[in-house]
Amino acid sequence: MGKSIRLNGHIQITPLINAYIFFFYFSGLTHILLQLLGTTIFLGLRQAIYMSFLWLIPILLFPQKTKLISGTIGLVLWVSSLISIGYFCIYQQEFSQSVLFVIFESNPAESQEYIAQYFRWWMAPVFLGHTLVAFWLWKRIKPIQGTLGARVLISLLAFALTIGSPLFKDYIVKKRPLDVALEKLQMRMEPAQPWQLVMGFIQYQKQLANMQALLERNSKLPPLENLTQKNAELPSTLVLVIGESTNRGHMNLYGYQRETTPNLNKIRNELTVFKKVVSPRPYTIEALEQVLTFADQEHPELVMTKPSLMNMMKQAGYKTYWITNQQTLTKRNTMLTTFSKQMDVQKYMNNSRAQNSREYDENVFAPFQEALNDSAKRKFIVIHLLGTHMKYDYRYPESFEKFKGDDGLDKKFNDSQLAYINSYDNAVLYNDFVVSELINFTKKQDSRSLLVYFSDHGEDVYDSPPHEMLGRNEGRPTTPMYTVPFMIWESNQWKSTDGRDFSKFTNRPYSTSHFIYTWADLVGITFKDFDATKSLVSNAFTKHPLLIGDPEAKGKLQEIHQ
Ligand SMILES: [Zn+2]
Repeated sequence: MGKSIRLNGHIQITPLINAYIFFFYFSGLTHILLQLLGTTIFLGLRQAIYMSFLWLIPILLFPQKTKLISGTIGLVLWVSSLISIGYFCIYQQEFSQSVLFVIFESNPAESQEYIAQYFRWWMAPVFLGHTLVAFWLWKRIKPIQGTLGARVLISLLAFALTIGSPLFKDYIVKKRPLDVALEKLQMRMEPAQPWQLVMGFIQYQKQLANMQALLERNSKLPPLENLTQKNAELPSTLVLVIGESTNRGHMNLYGYQRETTPNLNKIRNELTVFKKVVSPRPYTIEALEQVLTFADQEHPELVMTKPSLMNMMKQAGYKTYWITNQQTLTKRNTMLTTFSKQMDVQKYMNNSRAQNSREYDENVFAPFQEALNDSAKRKFIVIHLLGTHMKYDYRYPESFEKFKGDDGLDKKFNDSQLAYINSYDNAVLYNDFVVSELINFTKKQDSRSLLVYFSDHGEDVYDSPPHEMLGRNEGRPTTPMYTVPFMIWESNQWKSTDGRDFSKFTNRPYSTSHFIYTWADLVGITFKDFDATKSLVSNAFTKHPLLIGDPEAKGKLQEIHQ
């Protein structure tokens, strides 16, 4: 003990560091591994570093009980870290509340299968090794000797760092309501053990309750009046592929100079490619709330007061599937999960905590093929992709890293801009592979089938002058944030029973906020309030203003010109 460094003689530093390393070890291990694999952003590790200081407080204040306190806390952290490590071994991903959602949603037999399927013999020594390291770190812990003043001061600092200052910043400085400030604190704590598990469970319960309330409301809505359909007696497979953050301006199919869409180009003559479609809002949830319901920029409230597109398809007698590679039950995504729950079958393929994590869209291939092989005669399958969402280089495997230098670009960009543009174009290239594969799978079924693909919104990747904007911002809208690809693929059997030619309509200016009318028209559904002027593929179509902006904010709606 004599060898320990003492801070001005007030406190021993070595036991303080040893205790910190012990507590940090449980949260830090998986975060460091995740960083080494480059699977996620730095934020999680940073929060794990901060939050581990919290556990120093009790052993600083009660040094005589150091072994007992650190052992008890360590035990809780150990149990919770085993779950994260096990999950990491299987998926090389961070454990999250989405995983809890999937586990609680599955029945016990499925959960057992889930675990049995992934347990490998080498995981036993991994767990054992982890436990031995933890025990060794605990053995090294000694009471932190120091003056009472120094121990209290360091405890206060640790409290300020972990809980005090974030709360102070949100509640006092930024004057946010207490529940918002507490929620922000929860999000900060979540990357650290055992909060991942604890908060994950609390959040899961909360979002589940919200979702059930939304679903209950939805289930009480009266069905669409006088719904009738063409060809209701024929088999049909309807596929709706919703992309993510793909600006058509980066697609070779739409004239971009780089060859970002070789696969779609190859089947160009099988596609009807619409050239002037925009999204109403530059954010996923806000856009899809209008795309998948009767809500639009002028009537945003209809999202909850009229049946959705999913309700409509069930009412029409289809077996319905929702396959998503987006996150499921996070607060922002409750609405999407609610939409998915209006369907018969759900497959959630992405369980990352942060949307900014590595997940490839080929995740949806297997469940999509399963759905295609389902013996139901009439099927409606929604596929929700991660597409070209930030971070772009997490969206594609190495083999799709085609664009590296400034080849094919007609402007000069700095190195950082160039890196973003290249990774975005590589993501577009991978998205081309995914979408064309989905078309190929559908084509192989050789049935009466139809597939529609569009992106939820665009993305500005230094496209709009003065070429400084990256991403999306509704407050300062630019055209590339809204211009989306929109295309229809029909099988030969579909064409032989529905002989319409849409090629003369491809220059119509259209907002996906009215998509429900286009979809109904395409698949042959009509009902009392059907408005053919809002269908992109109807002879009765008329141009409606393409409104963008936040419909809840007065006077913010404006027309977009492309
Ligand atoms: Zn989006």
